[in-house]
This record gives sequence, structure tokens and C-alpha cells, in this order.
Amino acid sequence: MGISAYGAAGGKGARNHLSRAHGIFLSAVFFLSRGEPLYILVGQQGQDACPGGSPESQLVCLGESGEHATTDGPERVPGWRRWTGGGGGGGGATYIFRPEPLLVAAGGGGRSYQRRPDRGRTQAAPERLETRAAAPGSGGRGGAAGGGGGWTSRAPSPQAGRSPREGAEGGEGCAEAWAALRWAAAGGFGGGGGACSAGGGGGGYRGGDASESDLLWADGEDGISFVHPSGELYLQPLAVTEGHGEVEIRKHPNCSYCPFKDCQWRAELWTAECTCPEGMELAVDNITCMDLPTTTSPLILMGAVVAALTLSLLVMCGVLILVNQKKCQSLWGTRLPGPELELSKLRTSAIRTAPNPYYCQVGLSPVQSWPLPPGLTEVSPANVTLLRALGHGAFGEVYEGLVTGLPGDSNPLPVAIKTLPELCSSQDELDFLMEALIISKFSHQNIVRCVGLSFRTGPRLILLELMSGGDMKSFLRHSRPQPGQLSPLTMQDLLQLAQDIAQGCHYLEENHFIHRDIAARNCLLSCSGASRVAKIGDFGMARDIYQ
Ligand code: ADP
Repeated sequence: MGISAYGAAGGKGARNHLSRAHGIFLSAVFFLSRGEPLYILVGQQGQDACPGGSPESQLVCLGESGEHATTDGPERVPGWRRWTGGGGGGGGATYIFRPEPLLVAAGGGGRSYQRRPDRGRTQAAPERLETRAAAPGSGGRGGAAGGGGGWTSRAPSPQAGRSPREGAEGGEGCAEAWAALRWAAAGGFGGGGGACSAGGGGGGYRGGDASESDLLWADGEDGISFVHPSGELYLQPLAVTEGHGEVEIRKHPNCSYCPFKDCQWRAELWTAECTCPEGMELAVDNITCMDLPTTTSPLILMGAVVAALTLSLLVMCGVLILVNQKKCQSLWGTRLPGPELELSKLRTSAIRTAPNPYYCQVGLSPVQSWPLPPGLTEVSPANVTLLRALGHGAFGEVYEGLVTGLPGDSNPLPVAIKTLPELCSSQDELDFLMEALIISKFSHQNIVRCVGLSFRTGPRLILLELMSGGDMKSFLRHSRPQPGQLSPLTMQDLLQLAQDIAQGCHYLEENHFIHRDIAARNCLLSCSGASRVAKIGDFGMARDIYQ
């Protein structure tokens, strides 16, 4: 089984609210037996300091009270003052155990009241991982704020986070802060440490430390994650979780028996199928990869002749049947033509400005004429030439082609053309339009550009910037090292691809757009050579959610 666990994020400080410490994500593969129980405890986000429980704390949060409220220390030493509250609670860890721990994703530490004055930027500490089963699962050190709870720790104070055996509760917030201002941020369930002005430590296999003295700028540390040595670490720990924790468990096929150690889980067949590199195909034993035939053998030639004869017979029969059924015009029961047939049909007849009355008959709705939203350029299908099929998408075929007559462009522009099949529902029509609308809203070098749209008159087309390098997933798979042959890609090439997509994501994030399905299969490359630029090219998931 592949188990992915996300620890919870820590809470924010009163004047340290730009970012929270992220919970840790990690993923590992374990061999589990059928019927074996697994116990799961999901971490809860540490409490934020703001808005707080009292009018005074809310004034501090709003920035309307200049000074952070103080109270005398319990010792009542003259001049000794103690800051009260304003730190964030530590995030709880996410534990998966049976009953020994298999995977622990640590919680992020709570942020302190304010950022350290001398630090321009918060330096993220590297994610820490324990892989020894015998290592102690101790709690984080605390003092002013609570340390994070560990796997076997015993909480030394009410502020410390509890271990799962103690109930895994988060530590309480600062008692003084509570007494003076009703302002105390507790740690999250899953062993997060409670805060004072310093942040609480995150829960974990070992809890994160919190400051001993109640400093205004001492953040709580993240907890330490864990993977049991019986598991195989699949993805290294990474601080990513913004909120509460999560767990995801999937069946993970063991591909070690495949010749290329790679396979895909076929849910419908309840089996794993070995993956073969390009130029090879899977044999009927579902394991062996065989070279695709390159030369035409006499047997294949004979097969081709038989196929051609059968085809001509079928065509003749088809003509006869059509003649007989001339009166029955219904499209029900007609089969969608193959891509090449579709292509030739689009080339010769369908690309014209007159509306095609047979569009969208399956939905039994009259031909829809959606008003074209602003920002989309309508292109006449007469200006579009289809050249070759590129692939098959969720709606229909995608072709390479040329478009002329675009404003400010006298030369034919190479484009990718997404088509909507003739037989489609009005929901398909809407989805298709929505996809064009989403893409056309963006303008960035790492997001595929929408050149135009043909929508008012059939056929429905979306014209996109041509990405001759194809999708990134296929490109990476084809560039894998082969036996006795290194990959043609250098680390620099890979980092460049990652950077391109990260820049595209950054742009989407700046524009508050949630893509929901960033994956190599949804990224396209401008070309396959060294000057390739990677771009986010598919917004199918976002489109469905927006609907
Ligand atoms: P889906 O709808 O299944 O997500 P798409 O319709 O986006 O798939 O694309 C199907 C295939 O068409 C892709 O795998 C890719 O090979 C090709 N393709 C899509 N867009 C472009 C493009 N802009 N340039 C080149 N090829 C493209």
C-alpha cells in the first residue's frame, strides 16, 4: 500500500501572520496483509493567536493597540515583565500505526508573536526524519511555550502536547496570558504544543522544541517525522500542509517483476500491467516487452490484403444499408468515426461557415448559440487548415494545423486545434467553451496561450499555441535511461522543466486560480530539443470544478 500522510500546520502569531509553518508531507510504501487493522490519527492545525478571546487581544490583532499587553511576572520582581500571549499553537502530527508506528508526518511549529527583528526572511529549517524503529519518541523541550508531543512522550506540563498514548491532545495556551487577557492559543490535536508569546512546538515522532523563555520572536520548531524501516520511503518529507492533516492510502502495485520495473494499476481488471518503453509492446503474458515489428513480414502483408478486402466488402454493405435506410435520418446508433476519418471529413466538408444542423443532437437539445464571452477571439473555420492528428483529448481529437487572418498576423500561424465531436451533449458544449474561457484569461510564458475559438458556427474548435514537444509525461518517459544508455536529459534540463512549471503555478497563484491537477501529463513542451519551454496546458479539472 502507498500511504501518504500530511501533518497539520502550526498557528500564526499576532504580528507574525504572513505565513504559518507548514505541516510535513511524506509518503511510503508498506506491505500490509489483508484484514490487518491500521490506526489513523489525523493532526489538527495549531490555533492562531488572532483574533483572540478578549477585546484587548483583538485590538492587538487589528494593530490598534500599539503595545503588546504585559503583566508583572509571578515573582513580582520590580521591572521584570512578562509578555502575555500572541504566539501560535503547534500543529498536531498525523500518525499511522498498527500498533507500532508506520508513518508519522510531523506538525509545523507555532509562529511567535512577531518576527525576529534582525531576520529579513524566515529561514525554513530542513524537514527532519527518523527511520530507526528503536529511536526514542520523546517530546519537544518547552518552557514558556509547550513542546510538541512525541510518540512515547509524557507531557511535563499542561502546555506540552500529549503523545497518542496520553490522548494526543494539543497543549494548553499560556496560563498567564489566559488569566490576564483571555488570550491563549492551544496546540492542535496530535500533540501540538500550546503557545505563550513564543510559538508552541509541532507534534511528531519526536516533538518540536519551544522556547524556554517567553521571547516575542521565538518560533516553535516543527516536529520530527518518522517512517518505519519496514517501509520504503517513496517521497521525502516536505513542509507543505496549510491546514489540518490528511491521510491517503492507495493500492501500490509491486512492479519489481516487470522488465522495466514500471507498471500501472488497472482498477477495472484488478491487476497491475507492466509498462513498456516506446517502440515496444506488452506481450499477452502481461510481463514481457516485445519489439514492435519494423519490417513488413509476409504474414503481415497477407493480413493487410485480407483486411483491405474485408473493408471494401464492409463499405459495399454499408452503402447498401444506407440506401435502404435513407428515410431514417436518426443519428442514434451511429458510431463515431475514427480520428483520420474525422480529420478528412473536417478538412473537406465540415470546415465552412454554414452551421451544421447535426451538431449536438445526442443531448436532444436544439443547436445552442451561447453568446461568446468577452476576451475570446472568434476565428472563422474557413481560415483553419488541419494538418495531422496530435492526440485524443477528453472531448475529441486534437490536430496540428495552421490559422490565417488573425489580427496583426499576416503569416499562417501553426496551432493545435481541439475539436468537439459532432455528436455531443450541450453540457459538452458548455465544458468546451469553459475550457477556452479559462485558458484565454491567462497571459504568461509558462501557460499555453489560447489563440482563438470557433464557436458560433460548427465545427467547434479551440485554437491553442502549438506545443510541438507534446506532453511532459510522455517526454520524460521516453527520455528514461535504457539498459546501457544514459538518459539524454541532464539534471539542469529537469530543473529547467520544474522551474518553468513552478513559474506558471506562481502566476496562477498570484491570480488566485486553483488548478487542482498539476501533473506532468497536463504540461506541454514547446519543442523536444534543448530550447524547450514547459507550459501548463490542461485545465480540465479546474473547468469541471468551476462548472
Ligand atoms: P485531455 O482533454 O484528455 O486532457 P487534451 O485535449 O488537452 O487532453 O490533449 C490531448 C492530447 O493532444 C495531448 O496529450 C497532446 O498530445 C495533444 N495536445 C493538446 N494540446 C496541445 C498543444 N497546445 N500543442 C500540441 N499538442 C497538444
